[in-house]
Amino acid sequence: MKLIALRCPVCTQPLAPENDDIVVACGHCRAEVAIGQDGPSQINVRYALPAGARPEMNPWYPFWVFSGQVQLQHRETQGGGRSGQKEAEALWSAPRRLYVPAWELSMHTAQDVGSRLIQQQPQFQLVERPEQAQLVSAVVTPGDARKLLEFIVLAVEARRSDWLKDLVFHLALGEPELWAIPVKSNER
Ligand SMILES: [Zn+2]
Repeated sequence: MKLIALRCPVCTQPLAPENDDIVVACGHCRAEVAIGQDGPSQINVRYALPAGARPEMNPWYPFWVFSGQVQLQHRETQGGGRSGQKEAEALWSAPRRLYVPAWELSMHTAQDVGSRLIQQQPQFQLVERPEQAQLVSAVVTPGDARKLLEFIVLAVEARRSDWLKDLVFHLALGEPELWAIPVKSNER
């Protein structure tokens, strides 16, 4: 077993990540640190403030944010009219920001939070890390975020009124960025 000294690459103070943490905020200097196979390294996190929100809000939750497009290839339903199909085609007709929650949470909540942001495409203001910001640790890797995104897209489509039976789609995605967003308590 290889023991890695987990020290903050910015201030060299010890880090104390939990087992599954892949990105943590240093408890001393609050730099964002990725815990990789080769040890800790600083990672760029974009702080995204919702319209009308105050930067003092806490805590900030990590999201992997992809720019990309969901390309529907086959969508089969068991009835319910054409409105579901039309809504689906309209929603996915253009590239959008695709948000995947990255903190420790249930699949159900990840689907709720992710599908809401992906459908609403809220306006965010990218800000410097606010003075008092507390970042919740991220446990979802970019690779797992891609898989989780498939489940979020499925949840969006399954909740339409036309009884989804089968869905085939392709995700055309760029590399994700890690964002921190102070989602409200009823959104997590
Ligand atoms: Zn530090």
